[in-house]
Amino acid sequence: MKLKVLVDNNTYIDMYYLGEPALSFYLEDGRDRILFDTGYSDAFMINARKMALELKTVNKVVISHGHNDHTGGLRHLLEINRWATIITHPDSFLYRQDDEGLAISSPLNRMDLEEKASLQLSREPAAVSEHLTYLGEIPQYLDFEPRYRIGRSLIKGELQDDYIYDDSALVYRGKDGLFVITGCSHSGICNIIEHAKKICHEDRIVGVIGGFHLFEVDERLHKTIEYLKDNQIPLLYPCHCVSLKAKVEMGKQLNIQEVGVGLNLDIE
Ligand SMILES: [Zn+2]
Ligand SMILES: [Zn+2]
Repeated sequence: MKLKVLVDNNTYIDMYYLGEPALSFYLEDGRDRILFDTGYSDAFMINARKMALELKTVNKVVISHGHNDHTGGLRHLLEINRWATIITHPDSFLYRQDDEGLAISSPLNRMDLEEKASLQLSREPAAVSEHLTYLGEIPQYLDFEPRYRIGRSLIKGELQDDYIYDDSALVYRGKDGLFVITGCSHSGICNIIEHAKKICHEDRIVGVIGGFHLFEVDERLHKTIEYLKDNQIPLLYPCHCVSLKAKVEMGKQLNIQEVGVGLNLDIE
């Protein structure tokens, strides 16, 4: 599988791609061309053009969860590609707002998308390509990663506390083990890895890339580091929603790699 970072908070020196506090990856597995999240703006498309990637040929779009830094680019993608199937959780296109009342959901709601695109909504795991699986809703496996609330979402006409049950991820089944690809990991990075292991009946993890949603140096971070160490994961690419101090703390005990727009990974 080939993975290319189209959008991240970080960019590399001397590579003139656009960065934004958002996430989008481009993946190739066999004949499938897959987009994982679409960033906040059309930056992922501008960067893809510079990388000579043809987003018209993308046939699957996987949305990790509904926040606008992962779904904002969908409306731009639909201007050039309406045939790709969008795979995500049924809650991903709910209206949601932060505690100040600011909208933080996808600019396109489920009705807009049903009109303009083909949607595959699933709480269960779903095959994306030969080796890639969308994980569906993530159960809580670990006590130190309970669900937390971010703002509120509109369900049946009522604003309710939002625990982002839609937050999910992708897993790639490689020849030496699993490679996990996450959006924001609101469901907990370790819960996501546990779910990938369970679904694939495989305990070996060869790498993880994406937002781990870790900011503070606290008990949760230390337990996460212990978990990642216990699982002997050789390559970790935390990005997007991981603070510098969390990366520094992880880097004392784990093999942390830098991520930026334009990063290419080839995973067997
Ligand atoms: Zn989010
Ligand atoms: Zn995010």
